[in-house]
Amino acid sequence: MDHWPLGVFTSIDAGFGVQLDVAHELGVPTIQLHAPHAGSRTPAVATGFLERLAERDIQLTAVFGGFEGESYADIPTVETTVGLVPADTREQRLNEMLEISDFARQLDCDVVALHLGFVPHDTSSPDYQAIVETTQLLCNHCKSNAQNLHLETGQETAASLIQFMEDVPCDNLFVNFDPANMILYGTGEPIEALQKLGNRVRSVHCKDACWANEPGKAWGREVPLGEGDVGMQRYLETLRDIGYSGPLTIEREIPQEPDRQKAEIGRAMQVLNEIKSALGYASL
Ligand code: MG
Repeated sequence: MDHWPLGVFTSIDAGFGVQLDVAHELGVPTIQLHAPHAGSRTPAVATGFLERLAERDIQLTAVFGGFEGESYADIPTVETTVGLVPADTREQRLNEMLEISDFARQLDCDVVALHLGFVPHDTSSPDYQAIVETTQLLCNHCKSNAQNLHLETGQETAASLIQFMEDVPCDNLFVNFDPANMILYGTGEPIEALQKLGNRVRSVHCKDACWANEPGKAWGREVPLGEGDVGMQRYLETLRDIGYSGPLTIEREIPQEPDRQKAEIGRAMQVLNEIKSALGYASL
């Protein structure tokens, strides 16, 4: 794979991504995919999707898990609904993640990723231990499928995330770094967080956001790439400095406005290509 191939976050029937045909029209060489609903996670769907990828010469670099009942309405709602953290749904969602890992295997994809949710801060609490064990089970299953597991950033500070990964610890557990989420959730300056996470980062989102007036209490605001507080040039320079050369996967979470979503992803590709050129790398 080239250095920093561009990518875009895609969906089949779940999640906030664009459709594969939009990725193709945009001309990106890589995608991440939000796992489809259970009924669509079949060998026939996997085979069909692989054929479509091959026809379009697009490489799938990660499959993201997500769950019914998750809501990103506000930060307290994320705490109670997202990922493997809420206790009521943990076992059922773990089983679903194991199925998603198997589906990703059918797609020949060696990276599975997810938002784990808000991990409790008290590392001695039984709940914390339970989430550590759940993550170990998921890592072991991914390993049996020759996959790594990437945790999406945002809901924890970099220091808390590192602590959690050291408490798990599995050698196939890594990070999908999303700089905008650090701002949206108010969990830390993204460039500093990226430097701290260093070579744990094995995939990234390119997304931008503006800080809330009271970070951590209310959402920051997601904005088109290059117009927010991340600082895209510094972001790519820092990725270079930590030795990251993998895909730059653009995420723009406005699926309710597909035309605007596509146009803004196209503009984001221009922004990233300009920075890549300035840093001496080829476009796309
Ligand atoms: Mg993201």
